Amino acid sequence: MDSARDRLTLEIVEAEDLKLLTSVDTYGYQCPGCTTQAFPRSYRSENLVRAHFQLRDPHYPGCEIEGEEKIIAQGRRGSVQRELETSPGLSPARLQLIEVRTIVDSTIPRTEIQTQRIHRLNGVTDEARRDGRRAANSIRPICRAFLRFPFDRHLSLAVPGIAPTAYQTAFKKLRSNGLEHFPDLRIFYGELAWTPAAESFEHLTITLNAGKWDQKTLTPYQVIVEWDGWSTVARSRLKRELEVARQENIKANKECQRSRSYLFFVGAQDARNITIFRIMDHRLICTVHDELVFPR
Ligand SMILES: [Zn+2]
Repeated sequence: MDSARDRLTLEIVEAEDLKLLTSVDTYGYQCPGCTTQAFPRSYRSENLVRAHFQLRDPHYPGCEIEGEEKIIAQGRRGSVQRELETSPGLSPARLQLIEVRTIVDSTIPRTEIQTQRIHRLNGVTDEARRDGRRAANSIRPICRAFLRFPFDRHLSLAVPGIAPTAYQTAFKKLRSNGLEHFPDLRIFYGELAWTPAAESFEHLTITLNAGKWDQKTLTPYQVIVEWDGWSTVARSRLKRELEVARQENIKANKECQRSRSYLFFVGAQDARNITIFRIMDHRLICTVHDELVFPR
């Protein structure tokens, strides 16, 4: 599983975000759909495997998360709109950046916090049953949904600063048939190059396998991450993630699989040098390894 529920705050947590925490309570998470314990795996920032949650026990009867894998598989072949509208996590409806994670006062008894939260969540859940699709706190779950559900890209998506309001139009692929000018902000994405990212203290430069081919040379698009203000942990997480994605991409290529590693980011194109995009916020960049499908 890519995400789980924090047992104390009842918030949904992305496994990759555990890499940003100084310590992880391995007993602190449960399945988002039932209370079965979920154990974080590969959550240390030095791990060269994507972080995830694993269940040792089966889901409780009626758990909606249990059916998600089936929906994901169906979503590759056709629309699963109805299912996405009633399963909160699979296809987020909007990006909502939260500055600080909820800080829980340890002097308040656990049960009291939980009662309050459950009470609030129950209210939301009834709403959610009607509206279904919840917000995401980083672009990661949104980008995953973009690749997973090619037949449902007409679903709504609200991202601050991006004018289009559907998956289909909020994303923009960086292609290999010439350099384009993009005056408006989008969730840009392109296949990762095999070249590793280059780092300095001020920034990290990520090269894409997209841009302009001239004879046999590519003038690639590059994403410059201005990470001056980032913590060591946040820097290390991005570097590792990029390396994992790069390795996955090389492997998929060599094994003639259809999946590729894509870099997704929300960042402005440099006005003078259109090969360059800049990003500053770690919640606005991620990689996803999957097959990119454009249905006819
Ligand atoms: Zn469950």
